[in-house]
Amino acid sequence: MPRFTDAQGRIDVKSLTLAELEQEMQGMGSEKFRALQVYKWLWQRHARTFDDMTNIAKTVRTQLAEKFFIAFLEPVGVLRSVDGTIKFLWKTHDDWQIESVLIPDDDRLTLCVSSQVGCAMACTFCLTGDLGLKRHLRPSEIANQPLQIRAGLAEGTRITNVVMMGMGEPLHNYENLVPALQTYLAEDALGFSHRRITVSTVGLVPAMQKLTDALPVNLAVSLNATTEEQRRTVMPITRKYSMQTLLDTCRDLPIPHHKRITFEYVMLGGFNDSLEDAARLVKLLRGIKSKVNLIPYNENPDRDIKRPPEALVKAFQHYLVTRGVQCSVRTTRGIDISAACGQLGKADAASVAEFFGAAIVPQAPTSCTTPEPSTQSALRDGADA
Ligand code: SAH
Repeated sequence: MPRFTDAQGRIDVKSLTLAELEQEMQGMGSEKFRALQVYKWLWQRHARTFDDMTNIAKTVRTQLAEKFFIAFLEPVGVLRSVDGTIKFLWKTHDDWQIESVLIPDDDRLTLCVSSQVGCAMACTFCLTGDLGLKRHLRPSEIANQPLQIRAGLAEGTRITNVVMMGMGEPLHNYENLVPALQTYLAEDALGFSHRRITVSTVGLVPAMQKLTDALPVNLAVSLNATTEEQRRTVMPITRKYSMQTLLDTCRDLPIPHHKRITFEYVMLGGFNDSLEDAARLVKLLRGIKSKVNLIPYNENPDRDIKRPPEALVKAFQHYLVTRGVQCSVRTTRGIDISAACGQLGKADAASVAEFFGAAIVPQAPTSCTTPEPSTQSALRDGADA
């Protein structure tokens, strides 16, 4: 079991699952139900210190404070987009900056969570890849993002969906992701339904298989290409797991009958956006319980890649839909604050104006173009329930 400690050798209690906490506390002579009380204080009652845990005897609180510490991310600031998207910047205890993005939509409030500082996957079109991998996030750091944002939300406002689509490749950090997701799912902790959690991956085949066996969350795969060569050009991971291996794996995964794998497909202008690509995509996905989420490329000054014209995106979508492939187009959100897909990791802390000064009241966008409501989606994956 991975275990994280501070300079005094105290254990990062928020990186433990309930079962691990019970074990640790039994070791100090505490009964099982005490561990549950502590767990609820941490994840539901927003305790900042063990002394906040008023239904626990003072002597036990002292013991707890000697053995454990309660980790928090340091809030650095928030950036608000004109479209209602909010980006949160955090500092880790060792001074790395990470980001989470809150995306309000009509009927949902989706939180996009980071799983690593930087990313090792080096997809050519993604800015996070430029950082390289600095380090994996701990379970407490992955789970503190929703916890701490939740604490700042206005009353009556709830995060409805979580997508592991922030900085990093979540399945590269499998060892820390799984305990974090257990905290997301536990009724006595964050309490999210598995139907509302989506893990997105470049396609780390063995970890995809392990995750499907371990937890019932939704899976999204960033496919982004329709031939091996094309995919190798933009996603180096294809050299390790070929696209064919990835798709065969997806075909064989024991996906529950009401679920489908989401295939994300970043449309890169003039590269993978032709109707020939659409035709190949239809063939590739045959026999896989799937749906496609097209992501028109978010342009960056650092890249010479163009977003395809909207008409082309529509034509691509139309091609798929008329051949029986379920397909939505991801609405671009938060582009003015560099919070859109592929833009995380370069936030300038100096541009940060506020953090939790007042309760956060997310606003869904009021003016947006809404073509074909049934096929448009802002990060809708994993939210079908
Ligand atoms: N590493 C995981 C999680 C990140 S999700 C994964 O790749 O799935 C981020 C999504 O945004 C991925 O589907 C990625 O392909 C896509 N993306 C990256 N850069 C982008 C850009 N500039 N415009 C649009 N989508 C982008």
